[in-house]
Amino acid sequence: MTTATTAPSTSETQDLGSIIRSYHEVTERLKQSHEMLSLEVFRLREQLDEKNRELARRERLAALGEMAAGVAHEIRNPLAGIELYVSLLESDLTDQPEQLELVRRIGSGVHNLEGIVNDTLSFAHGAEPTLLPVPFWEIVDRVVAQAQPRADAVSAQIEVDDRLRAVVLFCDASQIERALLNLVFNAIEAVGRDGHVRIADGGRTADKRHARIVVEDDGLGVAADQLDKVFTPFFTTKDTGTGLGLAIVHRILEAHGGWIKAGNRKDGGAVFTMAVPLPVDSTPDRQGHAGESARAKATRLTEEGKD
Ligand code: ADP
Repeated sequence: MTTATTAPSTSETQDLGSIIRSYHEVTERLKQSHEMLSLEVFRLREQLDEKNRELARRERLAALGEMAAGVAHEIRNPLAGIELYVSLLESDLTDQPEQLELVRRIGSGVHNLEGIVNDTLSFAHGAEPTLLPVPFWEIVDRVVAQAQPRADAVSAQIEVDDRLRAVVLFCDASQIERALLNLVFNAIEAVGRDGHVRIADGGRTADKRHARIVVEDDGLGVAADQLDKVFTPFFTTKDTGTGLGLAIVHRILEAHGGWIKAGNRKDGGAVFTMAVPLPVDSTPDRQGHAGESARAKATRLTEEGKD
């Protein structure tokens, strides 16, 4: 039996060629989609890791806050008793200056302890902010009035950027005052004698929804390896520090749907930048959020992205 083989015709060869080309094209496209999907999976995984880290951080802080609040609460009552006895002793010792001086020192120690207890409680029970439009200048005025005596004590200067007169925030005035005060107190401590502390307008964030409020100083700045630690509760480099000031600032900004960042100026000194929400009116690209609760707004602002 004989078998006959025939060579493929020219048109068959062309068909085969185009099938192979299509096959290569499809393979190439599949490879590209696979690479894109891998990148997307990588990105989402990173995002998930970041969210998990944030969740773990919040859980740790909540547990820490609860414990700290419990301890602070227990300390507060005996402290109030000691303060009462100190004031009774003070009035009994008016004619014995040496003893009176000793009692006054006890009193000032008790006063410091009260400060620590109050800081701990306000860190632990960060109240939900009540967001209202507030001229920022009013907050600045109050903060400067409270900080001036400390600045005067070390001949430091507090300078305020005039552009801040035009800034209206959407915030809880007393909480933002507290945050700004903590930053300014820290800055005064950092600059020491003849230093400069500046409260400046850092403009709007890229999404135009927050005002950047900057507090900078010409002290020694924050060591590079401590920049990401300064907001951790109880982190302090000071002998008598509580390490709660910046943790409170961080908590306040977080509850507002804003943020706080620490950095250093090129020519020395620390710079802290807070992003505080602006009123809806000054953010024309955002509509339809009238009447939402502070927490809902804060959550939305956080979700909608940071600068
Ligand atoms: P405390 O003032 O009790 O230490 P804070 O939470 O306010 O607590 O600050 C934590 C740490 O951050 C400080 O101990 C200091 O090391 C650093 N820090 C804060 N503000 C400044 C500043 N303006 N310049 C340099 N370091 C700062």
